[in-house]
Amino acid sequence: MKGMDRRTLVAAGALGLGSIAATMRAANGAEAKGGDMLFTVAQPTVPILGSTKVFPVRRIYCIGRNYAAHAREMGSDPNREPPFYFQKPTDAVQFVPEGKVVDHPYPSLTKNYHHEVELVAFLKSGGKDIPVEKALEHVVGYAVGLDMTRRDLQNDMKAQQKPWEIGKAFDYSAVMGPIHPAEKVGHIAKGKISVAVNGKVIQDADLDQMIWSVAEQIAQLSKAFELKAGDVIYSGTPEDVGPVVVGDTMLCKIAGLADMSVKVVKT
Ligand code: MN
Repeated sequence: MKGMDRRTLVAAGALGLGSIAATMRAANGAEAKGGDMLFTVAQPTVPILGSTKVFPVRRIYCIGRNYAAHAREMGSDPNREPPFYFQKPTDAVQFVPEGKVVDHPYPSLTKNYHHEVELVAFLKSGGKDIPVEKALEHVVGYAVGLDMTRRDLQNDMKAQQKPWEIGKAFDYSAVMGPIHPAEKVGHIAKGKISVAVNGKVIQDADLDQMIWSVAEQIAQLSKAFELKAGDVIYSGTPEDVGPVVVGDTMLCKIAGLADMSVKVVKT
């Protein structure tokens, strides 16, 4: 690895699991000088369908109120205001393999735990001020995701004009299936998106109802943040978000992608 650009290697997916420490140093753009890491921190990754490579997660951005009917149900006016974003921590990822129903822990503190089914986009490269027409060149693939939300805590924070973290950025809150490479499934901009709870369809919409497309989200985000390989974008949820309780099974579908299913369990 001497003399080589580790960022380039990460972007190319050439680093093996044995190089996690190097990956973590490169992630901050600064080498630890004069010593070994005190400890290692696991690098969350997401598998890519049909590949032995995995996607290392750098940041998780989530767009808010990106479907008009959902904006209305959350009490806001769905005009085309600039999109807004929040983040989840990288290690909030809960990966759900294709064809499996994975146990999803009901989190602490909430009595109103909501599903938000979303299309998730994965970036293999980034930049600042990315033009809309170039934005999708940075997307390596897509997955089905759930932006799980402690709605009562989010609403409490909203009412107090405090940050949403406790409602959005908790452990296991970024549920996602495997990445479907864009070179296989294309760049997904329309098609059904739904979640069924215990077999009953609750959220049911079309991706073409997004107020801001994935390309527009990337362009907008890159004005505020320098996007990089490893960044993940939850593209917003349609209307009819709703609660789940322990014992419920959610089945999430997006046209063209593999279904994703989790069962809510007691921790
Ligand atoms: Mn969401």
